[in-house]
Amino acid sequence: MPSAGPDFRRLHQLHQELKKVQDQLVRGPRQIKLRQKRIAEAQEDLVVKEAELKEFRVETDKKNLDLKSKEAHIVESKQKLNGAASNREYQIITGRIDADNAAMAVLEDEILEYLERVDLAQEEVEQCKQKISSSEEDVRIFATAFEEKADGLQKRLAELKTSIKDAETIIPTEIREQYQRLVEAYGPGAMSESSDGVCMICFVQMTPQTKVLLNSGNLVYCGACGRLLYQSQ
Ligand SMILES: [Zn+2]
Repeated sequence: MPSAGPDFRRLHQLHQELKKVQDQLVRGPRQIKLRQKRIAEAQEDLVVKEAELKEFRVETDKKNLDLKSKEAHIVESKQKLNGAASNREYQIITGRIDADNAAMAVLEDEILEYLERVDLAQEEVEQCKQKISSSEEDVRIFATAFEEKADGLQKRLAELKTSIKDAETIIPTEIREQYQRLVEAYGPGAMSESSDGVCMICFVQMTPQTKVLLNSGNLVYCGACGRLLYQSQ
């Protein structure tokens, strides 16, 4: 069983490249999805903020109406003052005017507060809209770039699979099945280069016996991490 170092290293490198290409093909759509999810969240946020803005506007309008009605009431009361038949009636009307004035002062403060809330909510709505539109632009650019790259990646993936098949002819038939299982489970992590009797993945020193077997061209597995070892050249 010859363990031709350079051939195994090439096979290992092919597996490493295959993994990189596969990762890129998976990562692209995953990142697009993630960005789309963020846009959907921002859109939900926008709905909430727009509802808030609407509520603040409605509340402001309502308070403005209240204010106008109090104003009208005061005008009415002042007219009645002139026709007050008694001192008692005069006092009652004056009391109403004072109460309306106090209520108006409170309303005016509240209106100011609501106007501030409207301004703030409006700003937030604008920020949200801007965030959505820039995120949409970002995802569009990202998706286009990925689409352009994807064809090349698919082509490279097919090439690598063919090259790996060719390179795998160095794997003895009796361990082919075991090798396939390892590769399916761990990808490029199924193999490890060894240097001076040390596995370059787990850095565990192999036994003298394993070292001898490897040096004499046998295929061995690392006793510590179980990877297929090949000799560094
Ligand atoms: Zn190891």
